[in-house]
Amino acid sequence: MSAIDYNDLKRHIGHEIVCVGYGVGAFDRNDRDNPVNVAIECETCCEVLMDYDKPEEKYVKTKKTNKRKEGVL
Ligand SMILES: [Zn+2]
Repeated sequence: MSAIDYNDLKRHIGHEIVCVGYGVGAFDRNDRDNPVNVAIECETCCEVLMDYDKPEEKYVKTKKTNKRKEGVL
């Protein structure tokens, strides 16, 4: 991430800021809500201001079935 404090972020005031997804699902209309990375970018500077990877999925074993649960490990 390149915008880590006030001054880093301040220099992007008035620029074109977008939120984009990357990876599996990012460009698939049927799975658009499932990118592996999401980023806030300044298009004016072509710079990533901040980004986060999708948390790993956690598998919880139950008596009847394996149930999938999303969350941070
Ligand atoms: Zn900028």
